[in-house]
Amino acid sequence: MYHNTKLTGMVVYPNDPEYQQARMNWNPFTNAFPIVFVFAQKIEDVSNAVKWARENKVPIRMRSGRHALAKDFSQTNGGIVIDTSHMRNVTLDKKNGIAKVEAGIRVGQLVRMLAREGILAPFGDSSTVGIGGISTGGGITAIQRTAGLISDNILAVTLVDANGEVLQVNACENSDLFWAIRGGGGGNFGIITSYTFKVRTAPSKVGIFEIIWPWNQLNEVIDAWQRWAPCVDVRLGTILEAFSKANGLLHSQGIFLGPAAELEKLILPLTNTGSPIKVFVDEVTLLEAIDFWAPNEPLFDTQNTTWSSTWVKSSLPEDGIAAIRTFLERASGSESNFFFLNSGGVMNQIPPQETAFFWRNTRYYMEWDASWTDKCETQKSIKLVEQARLQLKPYITGSYVNVPDLNIKDYGQEYYGDNFERLRKVKERYDPENVFNFVQSIPPAHICDEKDIDD
Ligand SMILES: Cc1cc2nc3c(=O)[nH]c(=O)nc-3n(C[C@H](O)[C@H](O)[C@H](O)COP(=O)(O)OP(=O)(O)OC[C@H]3O[C@@H](n4cnc5c(N)ncnc54)[C@H](O)[C@@H]3O)c2cc1C
Repeated sequence: MYHNTKLTGMVVYPNDPEYQQARMNWNPFTNAFPIVFVFAQKIEDVSNAVKWARENKVPIRMRSGRHALAKDFSQTNGGIVIDTSHMRNVTLDKKNGIAKVEAGIRVGQLVRMLAREGILAPFGDSSTVGIGGISTGGGITAIQRTAGLISDNILAVTLVDANGEVLQVNACENSDLFWAIRGGGGGNFGIITSYTFKVRTAPSKVGIFEIIWPWNQLNEVIDAWQRWAPCVDVRLGTILEAFSKANGLLHSQGIFLGPAAELEKLILPLTNTGSPIKVFVDEVTLLEAIDFWAPNEPLFDTQNTTWSSTWVKSSLPEDGIAAIRTFLERASGSESNFFFLNSGGVMNQIPPQETAFFWRNTRYYMEWDASWTDKCETQKSIKLVEQARLQLKPYITGSYVNVPDLNIKDYGQEYYGDNFERLRKVKERYDPENVFNFVQSIPPAHICDEKDIDD
C-alpha cells in the first residue's frame, strides 16, 4: 500500500536524550514505553507518521496535551505516538466570531489569548489540558450552561485519517464524521490537526465566588449544593470539590456572567449552609476570572491517579452521599476527591442525538479519583474508585469519555449511550480496519461486540 515512508518532524527514539521527557504524561500512571515519538511540525508530518506506522505495523496513539487520565489512551508500549503539541497557531476572525486553532495548543494559552482580544471561549479547570483531546470528547466547562460544551462550538476540523489522507470535516464535507467528532472522544477517527470554533464577545466584567467549609460538614454541603446548583441562574457555572478526609477541605467556586451584587444573592443557599470558613465574592475581568478558575500550573503531576466519572439526573439520596463519605474517609492521597459541576442551560437544550455527545438532560457531572505515590497503594486505589462506582450505581447515569474508567466493561454504552451504534457506523466508514484501536476505542460496526476487541 505504501512504500518506505520516512518519519518527518521532530522524531524521538528511546536512545535519544529527549525520550524520558517525551514519555511523561500529566498522570505518571499513564506513561508507557513507545518505540518512537513524532512531534509533528506540520500536517505532512502527521500523514507520514500514519503511513509509516501502517507500513511497519506499529500501533498508533495520538497525543496533544498529555492529560489522558487512563493508561493506553495516548501512549502504548511498542507504539508510535503522533504528537501535535508543537502545532499551536491560532487565527481569529473577530468580526465573524470564528477562531481556527491548531490542536497542539493548551486550553489556558488559548483562552487567555482570546480574552486579551475581548473574546470568550469555553475553558475547563486546568490550563494545561490540550485542546486536541478535550474538544473532541466534549469539554465540560464553567460556562457550558451559556455556551454549551467545547464540542458544541466546533464548526470544522482538519483531520488525518487512517490512510494518512487529510480530510476537511464540517457540516457539508464528511458530515457524518463531523457529527462523530463532536463528543466521540479522542483517538478514534484520526488525528485532528486543527479545530475551527465559534467564539463570543466577552462580557467586560464577571462575578466570581469561592466558599470553603470544614470537612465534617460534608453531608449537608453536598446536599445543599446538589439541590441548588442545577437550578440556579444559567449564567452561573459552579463546582464543588470534596477532598479526602486526610486533606480536610470542602470547596466550592463559580463564575457568573453577570454582576457580583447579583451573584451574592444567588449564592445565599450555599453561604447559609453549615459554617463556611471562607466566603469570597468579587467582580473581575475575564482574564482575571480565567486565572481564578484555571490558574497556571505545572504540566506534570507527581501523584498517580485513577478516576471514574458520571452524570447525575436526580439528587443523590442519603445513601449516595454516605458512599461518597466512605470513599473520602478511605482515600489516603491528599489529592483524592469528589468533584461536581452543574449542568443545565444550553448544555441540556441540545438534543442528545444532535452530536455524538449523548449525556444531556442531567443535573450535574460528578467525578472522583484516588491518588497515590507509593506503588503498593496502586491496587487499593483502583479498588476504592470501583467500590464507590458500585455503591453509587443506582443513582448515576453513564460516564464521560474524557475521564475514562478502564473497569467499565460496557464502555460504549456508558460513554455514548444511544449514540454508540451510530458512532460504530462512522468508524466503519472512516477506519474499517480499526487502525486507531486502543483499550476503549470505538469498534467498527462489523466487529461483533466489544469483547472481540478485548480478545
Ligand atoms: C488536571 C486535569 C484537568 C481536567 N479538566 C477538565 C475540564 O475542566 N473539562 C473537561 O472536559 N475535561 C477535563 N479534563 C479531562 C481532559 O478533557 C482529558 O484528559 C483530555 O482527553 C485531555 O486531552 P489532552 O490533549 O490534554 O490529552 P492527551 O493525553 O494528549 O490525549 C487524550 C486523548 O485524546 C486523544 N487525542 C489527543 N490529541 C488528539 C488529536 N489531535 N486528535 C484526536 N485525538 C487526540 C488521545 O489519543 C487520547 O485518547 C482534565 C484532565 C486533567 C488531567
